[in-house]
Amino acid sequence: SAQLHGPFPYSVFHSLPTEMTSHASNKLDGKVAIITGGASGIGEEAVRQLTNHGAYVVIADIQDKKGHDLVLSIGSHRCTYIHCDVTDEHQVKSLVESTLQSNGHLDILFSNAGTMNNIKQDILEFDIPAFESLFAVNVRGMAACVKHGARAMVAGGIKGSIICTASALASTGNENWVDYAMSKHAVLGLVRSASKQLGAYGIRVNCVSPGVVATPLLGRVLSVSEEEGEKMFESSSSLRGVLKAKHVADAVVFLASEEAEFINGHNLAVDGGWAGI
Ligand code: NAD
Repeated sequence: SAQLHGPFPYSVFHSLPTEMTSHASNKLDGKVAIITGGASGIGEEAVRQLTNHGAYVVIADIQDKKGHDLVLSIGSHRCTYIHCDVTDEHQVKSLVESTLQSNGHLDILFSNAGTMNNIKQDILEFDIPAFESLFAVNVRGMAACVKHGARAMVAGGIKGSIICTASALASTGNENWVDYAMSKHAVLGLVRSASKQLGAYGIRVNCVSPGVVATPLLGRVLSVSEEEGEKMFESSSSLRGVLKAKHVADAVVFLASEEAEFINGHNLAVDGGWAGI
């Protein structure tokens, strides 16, 4: 037909009825998941999608009100909230322990909590204390979560799935956010190294690398509204459309599911081709 010639009408994708583009399944039925940074942004969307696919989700965050509100909106039979600051290994350990006590096993860990400094961090003006506090969350916190999540899976004989949130900047670097780019490169190092050890237990460790998503984190760093954020980055992917938290959560569901059973140590870009990896 004439429609097949010339540029493909992108809007065709958006006009599909919802049932054809996304539908809940039971592919994660019976699975227990922890999602750190689950009260907001990408983590929040992952909570919604994992519960939609049948998983029971423990939301871990430091934003207690948002976490409790999310449980209320989804239903306490499908998820719960636990306060956990990932920079404190004791809190991470007790998060995993209470998950096991209440649910018996841990199958999925989405280690997603992360932050970004409000100040410009180019190398000439590099602020070391700011770099250290960022690393405490994005790197030390990420490692503590993978450590305790993996220990629970190994001890329980669970062939689980661990997914970390890296970033497109883990592959491209960035002159204005050197500390953040470094921290996300470190997440790749963690995922690649841990996957080599944990593969022997049937535990898979992968990461998702989002492009720019207009979440509260981005709004805070760039002082823009969600709409302004989306506009600013609309042209960053070769697909043009707007990258949403939903797209990242779709990738997380895939990596968590058995459909990804032979994918390990992988960095899955969800950036519309922006970073070019
Ligand atoms: P967000 O701020 O909406 O969500 C991050 C959540 O992590 C928040 O709820 C926050 O309270 C929580 N958190 C922060 N520090 C924590 C700590 N010490 N312990 C526990 N929880 C903590 O931001 P987001 O954009 O959804 O970010 C989620 C992840 O995605 C982060 O790792 C971020 O680096 C990464 N990422 C975001 C983008 C983007 O464009 N938004 C792009 C690439 C990667």
